[in-house]
Amino acid sequence: MSRAEENREASPLLAILRARIEREGPLPIDAYMRICLAHPEHGYWRSAESIGTGGDFITAPEISQVFGELIGVWCAVVWQGMGSPAPMRLVELGPGRGTLMRDALRAARSVPPFLAAATVHLIEASAPLRAMQEKTLTPMARRTRPAPPLPPGERAVRHDLRAPQSHRESSSEETARKSFGEQGEGGLATEGNEGPLTPTLSPRGEGDAAVRGGVPIEWHEAIGEVPEGPAIVIANEFLDALPIRQLVFADGAWHERVVDVDASGALQFAVGPRATGGTEELATSPRPGAIVELRAGEDELLAELAGRGSPLIGLFIDYGPAQPATGDTLQAVRRHAWVDPLSRPGRTDLTAHVQFARLAGKARAAGLVADGPVTQAQFLGRLGVAERAARLMAANPKQAGEIEAGVQRLISPTGMGELFKVMAVRSQSLLPAIPFA
Ligand code: SAH
Repeated sequence: MSRAEENREASPLLAILRARIEREGPLPIDAYMRICLAHPEHGYWRSAESIGTGGDFITAPEISQVFGELIGVWCAVVWQGMGSPAPMRLVELGPGRGTLMRDALRAARSVPPFLAAATVHLIEASAPLRAMQEKTLTPMARRTRPAPPLPPGERAVRHDLRAPQSHRESSSEETARKSFGEQGEGGLATEGNEGPLTPTLSPRGEGDAAVRGGVPIEWHEAIGEVPEGPAIVIANEFLDALPIRQLVFADGAWHERVVDVDASGALQFAVGPRATGGTEELATSPRPGAIVELRAGEDELLAELAGRGSPLIGLFIDYGPAQPATGDTLQAVRRHAWVDPLSRPGRTDLTAHVQFARLAGKARAAGLVADGPVTQAQFLGRLGVAERAARLMAANPKQAGEIEAGVQRLISPTGMGELFKVMAVRSQSLLPAIPFA
C-alpha cells in the first residue's frame, strides 16, 4: 500500500496533523514524534497493547525473565557498592508492562537488606501502561501509590532535590560473587533467605507474591518527582522513544527536516527552514543530504539526574551505535514489522537510534561519569547469563529449549546482542559498577 493510500484509511491523528500543518506550517520531526506518541487521545502510548508477542514490538524483558533477573541482582550489588544506603530509590524509566521490574525484584530476594531499603519509583507517561504495571507489580508491593494524574502539559519537575547523603564506597565484590553465582547455588532463583529452593521458571503470576515484605512502589510523571536520596535508575528502550530532531544538510547549511503534506493530502518529509540551535557542534561541510539526529530529552534527563546531588547510577540499555554515526534512523514498527514512519500516525511505535558516543559526552557535560557502552551480549555475559540460563534449564527441563532460545536472542549477534548497548552513568563519588569496573 502506498503512503498516500495508508494515510487515507489511517488514524484519526492524520486529520489533526494535517490541520496543524496547514495552520502552522510543516512540523519538525520531534514535534511529529511527540504528537504521534503522546497525543492525549490518539497517541501511540494511549494503547497498552503495544509491547509483547501480541503487540507491535518485543523487548528484552519480554523475551526472557533472565534479563530482568540479572538487572535485579546488578542493582543489589551496585547498592552495596554505594555503601548500602537506606532508603534506596530504585527508579525505572518507561517500565512498559512492568516485567523487568517484577523479575528484578524477584531476583533481588537473594539480597534481603537491599529489598528492605528499596523504594520503587516508576516513571511512566502512558495511563494504560501504568495500569498494566500496577497489575504486574501489585503482588510484589507492600503498598502502591499511583501518582494522581496531572493536567496535560504540566509536569511536576522539582529541582530542589539536593540534600546530599553520605555514603561509603565499599567493595561490592562479595555480593557480586554470591549473587552472580561464583559460590553457592547462585542466589538468583532462591526464595529469599530461607535456604536454596529449586529455581522456578517465570513465576509470572504465581510465586511473585512470595517476595517477603515486598517493596513500596510509586508512579510518577517525571524523574523530578522522585524523592531525594541515593538512586539507581534503570531504562530499557526508554531513550529511543524520546523525540529527536533531524537536521539535513542542504544548500551549504543545516536545515530542520520536517513533515509536510503533499498535494494529495498525504504526509511527506521535506527540508524545512535553516536550523536554529543545536548546530554548534556539527560538521560545517558534510556531504549534501547528510542527516544528523538530536535528542534534547537526553540532555534534560541527564541534567535532572546530575542535579539530584545524592549518589546515583543510571543504566541505559538501548539500540544504537557505540561510535559517532550520522543518518536517518527514525523507524516505525507495527505488528513486528517495519513500516513507513509517516503511515498510520499514532498507530505505530516510533523510535530512533540512541547515539551512545553523544550520550556519554552529554553525561560528562552534566557532571556525571559515563562507563561503556558495552554490547548487550558483553553486559549479560559478564553478569553470568549463561550460568543463570543453565540453572534454569536444568530445573525446568521441559522448557529448556524455550529458555535457551530466549537467551540466545538476547545475546546473539543476529539478535539483540550487538545492536543493543549498555551504558552506565554515575556520580563522580562512586566507583565504576560491575561489569564496567
Ligand atoms: N522498558 C520497557 C518498555 C519500553 S517501551 C521494556 O523494556 O519492555 C518505552 C516505554 O517508555 C513505555 O512504557 C512508554 O510508555 C514509556 N515512555 C515513553 N516516553 C516516555 C516519557 N516521556 N515519559 C515517561 N514514559 C515514557
